[in-house]
Amino acid sequence: MSILVVGSVAYDTVETPFGRAERVLGGSASFFSVAASFFTPVNLVGVVGDDFGEAQLAAFRGRPIDVLGLERMAGKTFHWQGKYSYDLNSRDTICTDLNVFEFFQPKIPARYRGSEVVFLGNIDPVLQRGVLEQVESPRIVACDTMNFWIHGKAEELRRTLAKTQVLLVNDAEARDLSGEWNLVKAARAIRAMGPRTIVIKKGEHGVLMFDGEEAFAAPAFPLETVFDPTGAGDTFAGGFLGYLAGSPSADGPALRRAIVMGSTLASFCVEAFSLDRLLTLSRPEIDERYRRFHDLTVFEPV
Ligand code: AMP
Repeated sequence: MSILVVGSVAYDTVETPFGRAERVLGGSASFFSVAASFFTPVNLVGVVGDDFGEAQLAAFRGRPIDVLGLERMAGKTFHWQGKYSYDLNSRDTICTDLNVFEFFQPKIPARYRGSEVVFLGNIDPVLQRGVLEQVESPRIVACDTMNFWIHGKAEELRRTLAKTQVLLVNDAEARDLSGEWNLVKAARAIRAMGPRTIVIKKGEHGVLMFDGEEAFAAPAFPLETVFDPTGAGDTFAGGFLGYLAGSPSADGPALRRAIVMGSTLASFCVEAFSLDRLLTLSRPEIDERYRRFHDLTVFEPV
């Protein structure tokens, strides 16, 4: 079952206490696509400038990632620069050069329109709805957003959420969107806006999922080496939705496995800069860490 992702494809410049990476491949759609491609074919829609070459495209080649929808525009590719302190949970954005991304109007190629799972990356909620108008009848529509849209385009975001089954946000975004500090109350308030499933990412503190009346929690995998958290959220989303798209059902147990699979993929992402670790990753390594995740969290009833 194929998955459509619409989002940023970027050059990132990242500084962490452990080093610096200059103009490396990034963007929400890049991390998402590579993570999801371990489980299901991916249809990628984004925009790059004429400075985006074969070397960068190589990350998507040799995987089931269709790049027909990756538009090339005259100008420069989106560039984001961020800096992390020793507390890798918080980062400062140094600059966001939108470049060609400022003019992004997602066009969904005809062969993508039957995609059964759609992931609307963090873009203007008006553009997110424009994507939904171009697809036929997806089984699952999932979306990401950020404070910029929660405050700047609140009404438009509400309209998009009304057409969404799954919302993936971090804890601060869930609080901002709902006006509730308590995450259980926040999830209930967001459910009333449309999505049935709310996935709240809490960085090194793991993930909380609310699905209807059910709740599920997964920790982050305890790692000795956390090098660069950039892209962990998008990689989580790719593992989560990719797994669901490749699974025959999206019932409660499948959602729980998908949460752990997303967390597994994200745990690899943070071990190196950019997509470096995801690009050397193999399915047996994923399965082995998924098993260790299970051992980490299983306990006997009293
Ligand atoms: P994450 O760490 O999961 O929040 O994702 C970081 C990625 O998001 C980086 O690779 C950036 O290129 C990309 N990014 C940063 N700011 C934006 C933005 N305003 N719109 C779209 N993508 C962005």
